Amino acid sequence: MAEAGSFAEKVKQQADIVRIIGEYVRLKKTGQNFTGLCPFHQEKTPSFAVHPVRQIYHCFGCGAGGDVFKFVMELDKCTFPEAVRTVAEKCGIPIPRPREHSPEERRENQQRGALVEMHREAATFFARQLHEAAEGKVAAAYLEDRGLDRAAMTRFGLGFAPSSGDALLRHLKSKYPEKLLEASGLFSRDQSGSGRLYDRFRRRIMFPISNDAGKIIAFGGRAMGDDQPKYLNSPETPIYSKSNVLYHLDRAKESLRRDDFAILVEGYMDAIAVARAGIANVVASCGTSLAEPQIKLLGRFTRRIVVNFDPDTAGQAATERSLALLLEKEFDVRVLALPGGADPDKFLKEQGADAYRKLLGQAPPYLDYLIGRARQMDRSTAAGKVAALNFLMPYVQRLPNRLLRSEWATRIASELRVDEPVLREALRRAAAERRSEVKPQPELLAPAIRPAERRLMQMLIEAEARLPDGQGFRERLAREIITDALHRGLETERIFEALVTRVGERPDAATLAAALEERERRMLFEVLFEPSAEATWEEAESCLDVLRSRSPQQELAELQKLIEAKATPAELNRLLTRRLELQRMLARR
Ligand SMILES: [Zn+2]
Repeated sequence: MAEAGSFAEKVKQQADIVRIIGEYVRLKKTGQNFTGLCPFHQEKTPSFAVHPVRQIYHCFGCGAGGDVFKFVMELDKCTFPEAVRTVAEKCGIPIPRPREHSPEERRENQQRGALVEMHREAATFFARQLHEAAEGKVAAAYLEDRGLDRAAMTRFGLGFAPSSGDALLRHLKSKYPEKLLEASGLFSRDQSGSGRLYDRFRRRIMFPISNDAGKIIAFGGRAMGDDQPKYLNSPETPIYSKSNVLYHLDRAKESLRRDDFAILVEGYMDAIAVARAGIANVVASCGTSLAEPQIKLLGRFTRRIVVNFDPDTAGQAATERSLALLLEKEFDVRVLALPGGADPDKFLKEQGADAYRKLLGQAPPYLDYLIGRARQMDRSTAAGKVAALNFLMPYVQRLPNRLLRSEWATRIASELRVDEPVLREALRRAAAERRSEVKPQPELLAPAIRPAERRLMQMLIEAEARLPDGQGFRERLAREIITDALHRGLETERIFEALVTRVGERPDAATLAAALEERERRMLFEVLFEPSAEATWEEAESCLDVLRSRSPQQELAELQKLIEAKATPAELNRLLTRRLELQRMLARR
């Protein structure tokens, strides 16, 4: 929580939640709010809203919500102090002094810092080997043969790992303790007795892999000659996790945002070739299949992807998994299949950048591409048609959007000339179902609250900002509620409790939220996002009357409903206590 007078509080006052969230989510002004696609659940139509005045966000689909810090914590999966720092940095607010770390955290940070520095030194070492060592010059000549001039090698930081097996080790050994060398992933330990460290990368062309901030955190090494494996990457280390990194993203970021699409290629050489052709918005997965964190990372920059590897070729299963995952995450996926199954590197060399750009512009949506492939299957028999349908349906079933699935089913039926009613029906039914597990959307909570409660909540929160004597209005209203305990037994009891107890203080949405259970926080935020008219005391009185006129029997019936609904243990405890009170009261009558 941002406590009064704290640094967090200061950051919160200066930070504009719309601008901060706008860095992660594309927001559009809708009425007084901003809306966009929720980053916490998959959706096609925006149900995520940001309130510029109250400085809160709320998703009407999945129920996520909070203030600017909560947003950063949830999205970056970080702690509160880290979120405060992130927001402060984004707003250019100087951070007073380094945060107190636990000794363990300090050690880990130091280790990470040293590992990054070690990678920087290793990259310099490899680069020098490529240009100066005899062995390296052979590698450089090979790269030149593949169309990479010296300037390109320098631009992409390419290097060479010597074959001796301890060249890098000798270079770094005096500067770093052995434990750190081992943790870097740059070395392996001899398992056969001696237990010595030796260079993990030997006789390989080295591609530095950077995180999205541009720091080198790993390497990919391509074998010279027939050494196996052809590509060898750094293992997972404290600074590198392969599912969190996309090659070339650090250099592609700006153009990804500007052009609003990404070209996804398979390998380092492909990414380099496309980038050298003047098309900067290219990234490479450099792994078997695209992992979910990588897709999330990419989604921060664009949701439109042109996949430029032939889904038919090597690693087909992995490729299909990547594509299916992108579809499932509702990316707009297109496929650029270069003629003759050429890879981007080869194609660009032979046909040039203009030809590549032209094909890029014509890349069909992924499902069109698949339909094209299904049409090439033998569909002269009923069995052939079923096979073609079975080929397509799993992809259609991945689409989270039901309308889209049904549109595609109709298109497939007409393109594949599926006329038989039986097949049509099977297609329709398959499209109606979703293959993978879909989380049910939680129902809106606010409509369940009676209008009088809703209005009173709005008045308590808004009076100050909207009425001439707002503070007096709010305090009077709060007293009325407290005196007769009008909120007792309501589903919104604890929200009112939070709103009326600290009468002197002006309620702030995020502070209130901290005092509430998640379900209550959602109800409150849903109400807060509703547009409301200016209040009058007459209206307040009539709302109070509605609460006053509740009979104990009515309240008991409501309580019963709440108890049966899935309440949290704490809530349930409160509800049961109140039920007992009411039952006793009724028994005495
Ligand atoms: Zn959501």
